[in-house]
Amino acid sequence: MDKVEFRCPHCFHDNTVECETIKEMYHEHIFTCARCKHPVDVICADGPNDSLNVIASCDED
Ligand SMILES: [Zn+2]
Repeated sequence: MDKVEFRCPHCFHDNTVECETIKEMYHEHIFTCARCKHPVDVICADGPNDSLNVIASCDED
């Protein structure tokens, strides 16, 4: 199964999730960073050359 990586904006840890989990494009998915346990919003978008553009953001408190 394909894996998708996103970098936690909070601690810069590279998290890996199964592509299946976030295949719904342009929808926000909430993940918890494996290292800092911070909730991270992940959105998949089309990137150049059929690549997947993964946008990760988290709310600063
Ligand atoms: Zn983190």
